[in-house]
Amino acid sequence: MSKNSSNIMALVPKTSNKRETVCIFGTGDFGRALGHKLIQSGYPVVFGSRSPWPSSLIPKDAEVLSHAEAAQKAAIIIIAIQRQHYDFLASLEETLHGKVLVDISNNLKINQYPESNAKYLAQLVPSARVVKAFNTVSAWALQSGTLDASRQVFVCGDDTEAKQMVMDIVRALGLTPLDQGSLLAAREIENYPLQLFPLWKLPFFLSLGLTTFFFFYCLVRDVIYPCVYENKDYSFYLAISIPNRICPIMALVLLALVYLPGVLAAIIQLYRGTKYSRFPDWLDRWMLCRKQLGLVALAFASLHAIYTLVIPIRYYVRWTVEDRTISQALNNKTTPFDNTNGWLSDSYLALGILGFFLFVLLGITSLPSVSNNVNWREFRFVQSKLGYLTLILCTAHTLVYGGKWFLSPSSYRWYLPNAYMLSLIIPCVVLVVKFVLILPCLDKQLTQIRQGWERNPQYSELSNHIINKSAV
Ligand code: NAP
Repeated sequence: MSKNSSNIMALVPKTSNKRETVCIFGTGDFGRALGHKLIQSGYPVVFGSRSPWPSSLIPKDAEVLSHAEAAQKAAIIIIAIQRQHYDFLASLEETLHGKVLVDISNNLKINQYPESNAKYLAQLVPSARVVKAFNTVSAWALQSGTLDASRQVFVCGDDTEAKQMVMDIVRALGLTPLDQGSLLAAREIENYPLQLFPLWKLPFFLSLGLTTFFFFYCLVRDVIYPCVYENKDYSFYLAISIPNRICPIMALVLLALVYLPGVLAAIIQLYRGTKYSRFPDWLDRWMLCRKQLGLVALAFASLHAIYTLVIPIRYYVRWTVEDRTISQALNNKTTPFDNTNGWLSDSYLALGILGFFLFVLLGITSLPSVSNNVNWREFRFVQSKLGYLTLILCTAHTLVYGGKWFLSPSSYRWYLPNAYMLSLIIPCVVLVVKFVLILPCLDKQLTQIRQGWERNPQYSELSNHIINKSAV
């Protein structure tokens, strides 16, 4: 009974307004911003500083004392000082005995020191209980209240009670603590703010490489070839025509590259007859950045839509239409309306519009605020089923656009096919393989494998053996 009631008590938030005093060492940018926020949340704040006298910069409800005096007034001390100045803390060892020291520091480089800053602090003051927290929150965000993107505070430490005390403060500030485990995790947490878009690197370099390739490909075919063989200057193509050729190609290729790793993973699982075998590292990394690849693809598709909208107002297009009309009038000849071309043109546009609409829908559902509000099945339905439908529509859009010129010799310049033909290779491969994979005989086996079935159960015995061995 008493156990139950203590559990219930643990779930009930503390209603008392009385908050424990929090001490902050250092009156720099972060110390002041955090102090201000703590005072707003009802915490008495005392600063420990080398200059222990009031200043207009320090929140006026806070006390400023020497480090030793300030430390005596609180059980929790937030160390808002750069790591390289931590040495003096060793001399306060006696005062800091049993106190909770919150290490909020960051470094300038990933893995700058052999040990994490939090570990270093724990070594300097072994009798204190060190907790890592707040390092991913910026002083500016604390001060301006713009914490939407950084509401999560990663917390780690070896002392559970100390960690809990810090997490209570984090919650009281309106932030979300995320317990990352023991102090060993501090090294990783300290690296978080130093990472530069880790999941965007592959999509960025891949897009850059492919865009450069297609740019020079189109330049050779559409500008240099007419210049050499027809003595025509089409260099103005560089402004709109070539970008409007590259954007849809990139959108289609990157969208196909979002679905290609899933198809490869399915083939690997079918071949191995198990899901309990790790994918190669490159495939793992590729799968992790599929969302980013898809967003880059959406950006290219959006640019293509904008470029397409300006086509009718281009001088070159207006001139071509006028020239054709005048020459027809002069020759007293009209081109008859071709119903097939009417159908082809409208179908190609309709497929493009629908494909782009679904593309945008996919982009919207990948936003955290939307994806958090759909369950796993709904998310899978949108990203997988609608995703493939988008790929089908966009591939069909490209096929209908240029299908009739595929075999025409005039569309090959220096034996190079039109760039959009190249862009169809990966999407068609992905769609064909996916079609094969959903054939009932393969789909059934794949579903079984993904539910844990193994063709060769010896594998699990082997993996269990390895796990047991590593546990010993
Ligand atoms: P800061 O503006 O340079 O302030 C550091 C403070 O440390 C100084 O104001 C000073 O306070 C104290 N200090 C400087 N030299 C000292 C020494 N030799 N001995 C003892 N104390 C000394 O730095 P900050 O931007 O506030 O950052 C403080 C810590 O928070 C750093 O570890 C940083 O990595 C971390 N952090 C900062 C941010 C941010 O947005 N700024 C975000 C996350 C984490 P007194 O003059 O009062 O002694």
